[in-house]
Amino acid sequence: MKYSLICLFLLSIISISCKNSATLITEKKETGYQGQGASPVVPTVDRPVQKQWKGIWSQENKTYFSNDFDGARLNGVAFDGNDHYTVWITAENTPINVSPWYSFKVWTENPREITIKLSYQDSRSRYYPKLSLDGVHFKPLDSTAYKIINPGEGEFGIKAAPEFAEIALNIDNNPTWISAQELYTSKRVQNWVDSLSIKPFVSNYEIGKSHENRAIQLMEIKENPSTKKALMIISRQHPPEVTGFLVMKSFIETITGDSPQAKEFRNKFDVFAVPLMNPDGVDNGHWRHNMGGIDLNRDWENFNQPETRSVRDFLNKKSDAGYEFVFGADFHSTWDDIYYPIDSTVIGEKGKIVYDWIKSISNRLPQKRTNIAPSNKIKPTMVSRNYFYVNHGMPAIVFELGDNTPRNFLKEKGKVAAEEIMRLLLAD
Ligand SMILES: [Zn+2]
Repeated sequence: MKYSLICLFLLSIISISCKNSATLITEKKETGYQGQGASPVVPTVDRPVQKQWKGIWSQENKTYFSNDFDGARLNGVAFDGNDHYTVWITAENTPINVSPWYSFKVWTENPREITIKLSYQDSRSRYYPKLSLDGVHFKPLDSTAYKIINPGEGEFGIKAAPEFAEIALNIDNNPTWISAQELYTSKRVQNWVDSLSIKPFVSNYEIGKSHENRAIQLMEIKENPSTKKALMIISRQHPPEVTGFLVMKSFIETITGDSPQAKEFRNKFDVFAVPLMNPDGVDNGHWRHNMGGIDLNRDWENFNQPETRSVRDFLNKKSDAGYEFVFGADFHSTWDDIYYPIDSTVIGEKGKIVYDWIKSISNRLPQKRTNIAPSNKIKPTMVSRNYFYVNHGMPAIVFELGDNTPRNFLKEKGKVAAEEIMRLLLAD
């Protein structure tokens, strides 16, 4: 409970700051922009997780709801009469951040329009529904088919979200997927990793196992055998944070691309990436935690979880082999696009490249306000960014993307972010 309250408190600070910041780029010292406070110290030893019952709900009128696929979350269905259904979505355990992930399929032998009300355990309706007919290509639900019940207050954070949402939907024999965000399961992510690994300078291999024995897969971009300078990229410690993943994906695709800049860059720098830090959480449709019931991004001090340990051990091995890490980024999603660098008073000259990078991305993408919230408390390390800096000297950042940031913009932002870090590192 305490933790959720702290989170809400942080979100409200960010909210106020966003509204008050008139300038495009804001920084704590100059404008009074409030940064991300210290992450609360929480225990990270295993806690119980409630496993989801998997199967098919058969309802009146020969209508079916299913959560029997990777990434699904659906915990109960009620038929309310008049083609109206209420679905129930719960978290893997509590307390937990309010990121109520849902994903399920619905179909019928009696084609017609139905209404589905989304209801949640201790949460409001954060994610705008996306629909798909194949589980791969998703589109946001048409706004005319979306109704909110009990609107929220303000413009930012879970308080601004409606209590419930209702979806009007034409269903038939072919399943329709309804999902909080696009489905990028461990299998789909691995397909993407494999597709890039066709290139001679990209490889991927396992650096550890998750609680449920899924691979923690690392992608290595290495063109020049003698290079000992590297970037460390991770994403999706938090399963629903698909928009952060999409920017990371575009970032990696740009660095592995055919541009002269990318070729020159790969001749001098290696990139190590773990695109899916929490495969169990993703495949089990978790709101936030891994199968140990823990927020992985609080485990970078005590390393009680196998997923974080695998990256720790990998980094130690590379540092011992003489690698110098020149940049680190951890991609996430939240209510808006926000950069969380380490405060310049802590990181000093070493952090200049991160601030220069944010500025140059913002110059090229002026359509989106740049929110920066530096952190000045980095010990105990707790979160990946602090661990990257404290233990491996990396100028590192938490790169947050909005849940609703348009997908074509995300792709462009990942590309621009990659081009600018390549330019700055090559000029260094
Ligand atoms: Zn996150």
